[in-house]
Amino acid sequence: MSQVPVITLNNGVEIPQLGFGVFQVPPAEAQQIVEQAFAAGYRHIDTATAYQNEAGVGAAIAGSGLPREEIFVTTKVRNADQGYDRTLRAAELSRSLLQVDAIDLLLIHWPVPSRDTYVETWKALEKLLADGVVRAIGVSNFLPEHLERLLAETEIVPAVNQIEIHPTLQQADVAAFSRSKGIAPEAYSPLGRGADLTSDAVTSIAQTYGKSPAQVVIRWHLQNGTIVIPKSVTPERIAENFNVFDFTLTDDEIAAINGLEANNRTGAHPAEAAFPQTPDGTWPND
Ligand code: NDP
Repeated sequence: MSQVPVITLNNGVEIPQLGFGVFQVPPAEAQQIVEQAFAAGYRHIDTATAYQNEAGVGAAIAGSGLPREEIFVTTKVRNADQGYDRTLRAAELSRSLLQVDAIDLLLIHWPVPSRDTYVETWKALEKLLADGVVRAIGVSNFLPEHLERLLAETEIVPAVNQIEIHPTLQQADVAAFSRSKGIAPEAYSPLGRGADLTSDAVTSIAQTYGKSPAQVVIRWHLQNGTIVIPKSVTPERIAENFNVFDFTLTDDEIAAINGLEANNRTGAHPAEAAFPQTPDGTWPND
């Protein structure tokens, strides 16, 4: 049995609470890095069409020898693939690159409100779910106003909202709003891309337990009930970030980390982000 707790999503699908992110993992290295993650014990991989490494993730899944149902794989519809028909085609390509019959979780990567296509994109995700080619559907970088619109204009409540969460950018309001609608918050850039590992609060707690700052921060996410997907291409760190089930933070330690909030966003702001996520930086025009 895995030590990793599962979170039961609003449609009954179970997701391992700790996963492995592959943003900025070079395509040529993705297979080997994901194989290392499997060897360390991860069974949940978070990729995206925009990362251009779905093929490597798929090769690692296919070559792992693990039963398919023991692996949970998330991918995301890139911004340039939004729109009903385009999303259906993009999901087919993702399935083929990932070499899976069904994607466990498919997300809309960004709302891109300026293009106003996320509602029709969501309707395509609803169809993919009905067709059984995805097991759960969700969103990423959605603010409450974008979620409100989906809830008002479509049928299915997103299972997940994957947003930037780490000690210096906790987005407690977006997470709480998501939870209030039955949408599980999932923390991306959970270590603040490495920048949230040096505060006195985190390093002193790490010393207390003989753990690393990254392990303390991952523990903080887990004890907050958040799905968390740290990324590393460094073998020792891949293993270290999974080795977080032999200690428990106290309420006071969690409060001390909560006190690090500093509105320190490392990624784009979801209200404004409007990039296509294509290799050549252009939007398609068919
Ligand atoms: P993370 O917060 O996971 O930080 C990754 C950085 O921290 C890397 O530079 C890594 O270095 C370093 N690091 C990892 N582990 C340790 C450790 N134990 N000690 C010290 N440094 C460490 O950032 P990401 O932005 O990669 O986020 C994680 C995942 O979230 C992504 O891979 C992706 O799957 C997802 N994501 C989703 C987004 C979205 O829009 N939906 C946006 C951004 C991320 P190194 O690799 O060199 O070891």
